Amino acid sequence: MPVALDVAVEIAKHNGVCIRPVVLRRLDIHTGTTEDVNVPCGTTLEAKCPPCAKRNRYLRMAQCREGWHLDAEPSTTPDEPNEEQRWLVEFRADMQAQRDAADKAGDDTTDLDAVLAGLDEEINAAGMRGTLLGRTTAKRTRSTRRRQDAPDLPRRVRRNTTLGRTFTGSDGATYRPSLFITLTLPSYGRVRAGQGVPVDPDAYDYPRAARDALHFSKLVDRFVQNLRRVAGYDVQYFSSVEPQKRFAPHLHMAVRGTMPRAEIKAIAAATYHQVWWPSVDEVRFEGEHLPVWTERPERAEPYPDGQDGDYLDPVTGELLPTWHEALDRLDADDEAEPLHVVRFGPQVDVQGVLAGTPDADQCIRYLSKYLTKSLGDTLDADDPARRDHAARMIEALRYEPCSAACPNWLRYGVQPKNARAGMSPGRCRGKAHKPEHLGYAGRRVLVSRKWSNKTLAEHKRDRRTWALEALGLADEPTDPHRYVWKPVPAGDDNIPSLALRLLRMVAERQRWRATLLALEARATGQDLSAVELQEAA
Ligand SMILES: [Zn+2]
Ligand SMILES: [Zn+2]
Repeated sequence: MPVALDVAVEIAKHNGVCIRPVVLRRLDIHTGTTEDVNVPCGTTLEAKCPPCAKRNRYLRMAQCREGWHLDAEPSTTPDEPNEEQRWLVEFRADMQAQRDAADKAGDDTTDLDAVLAGLDEEINAAGMRGTLLGRTTAKRTRSTRRRQDAPDLPRRVRRNTTLGRTFTGSDGATYRPSLFITLTLPSYGRVRAGQGVPVDPDAYDYPRAARDALHFSKLVDRFVQNLRRVAGYDVQYFSSVEPQKRFAPHLHMAVRGTMPRAEIKAIAAATYHQVWWPSVDEVRFEGEHLPVWTERPERAEPYPDGQDGDYLDPVTGELLPTWHEALDRLDADDEAEPLHVVRFGPQVDVQGVLAGTPDADQCIRYLSKYLTKSLGDTLDADDPARRDHAARMIEALRYEPCSAACPNWLRYGVQPKNARAGMSPGRCRGKAHKPEHLGYAGRRVLVSRKWSNKTLAEHKRDRRTWALEALGLADEPTDPHRYVWKPVPAGDDNIPSLALRLLRMVAERQRWRATLLALEARATGQDLSAVELQEAA
């Protein structure tokens, strides 16, 4: 009997099973056998299905908890790549080959590029240092003339530690206070309390709201740099970016160690980020009047900028400046102003938190509250005022360049970085322009390198080890070279339907859960709580 896919999906969701599993073929080099394995989407791609998002939220909570009040310096020796990292890397190599083939055939590579970017993030999150992608073009050396100078802030002598100060109470106990900081963007116009929609939409500064959202993650980077400069130690943080009702991103940050509240506020007020991009003041091409692509002469050596053509003015035939040329002009122009300067708003909330208190738990839940949602999820389609607010925000983002490679640059007479045929302003497929992202395309969780001393993959392994021990099974160390992972070629007839695969995964999950529940029944007196068992399941 064929199973309806939507029914299988519902059953899978109900059981917390990934609904978009990737099939990978695993060769066991000890036995010479191959097996097709369903790998949860949450392990490979950034776009996670709801069950994977929920599981990742639990992992993030564990990671946040472990790092916040750490009392020993974390070690940062990179581990041997484990099995998961190994196949992520191989999987990436295959996707890169597919992308290059598509590019050669002149096909659109936006989706594959997004997959590769997602894989790079996952590989980094899995604990591999550095990026795997060798640079094909030399990194631009920026003119230092417009280096963003450190704001006028006090500067402490840097101690070589990631741990905050401790205090001894009158009872002799040691206290290790830490901080919970909330940073918000400025006002773009009055909004209705509780609803987040503008009182006067025509007066609301949508262009500024759009640009602030686009460059928000850079502002957060600056804040951390300034924080470390003032704090005088290697400050570690776990933060999450969340949507406000008015659709502006804001940031919650758990910081290890403590500083005076007034100092944090002064740092937030002094932090800014300048966007040194070409001007978008003048619209040069729109409607039917758009730049035209022209191939460069063929030659044996690839062109240094990697392009094999250029965009030119359809009327004059003049070549538009390439991205690098446009930046050179900007550097040479003494009168030039940054395209945008982004700052935080005056609302800065700083809370002192002690390890192990209900306050700390509350903050951890808060930090992970929105991780299963996207920014646009606060968009309520039934409310006409919110619908209108979202539509205006998306319109403001439509022609705003989201990155150096955004096709929108053509509208302002500049070739996007890595320009290729078929680009058209207003048709960028970058995440930032999409209703579910509303300008913020960065990562939702930002964790500093020496936070918990563990990567997400290691937290995952902890949970597995814990569950196996609870079951009285040994967690045998696996030979890291035992398995070779390969993607299954598209159109392979041996792969069962998705519906069937989901139901098999559900059956496995239910077996596992039944065992844990039976164990829970016997666990009275042991240190196993129902919640822990459920999380492990
Ligand atoms: Zn999934
Ligand atoms: Zn774009």
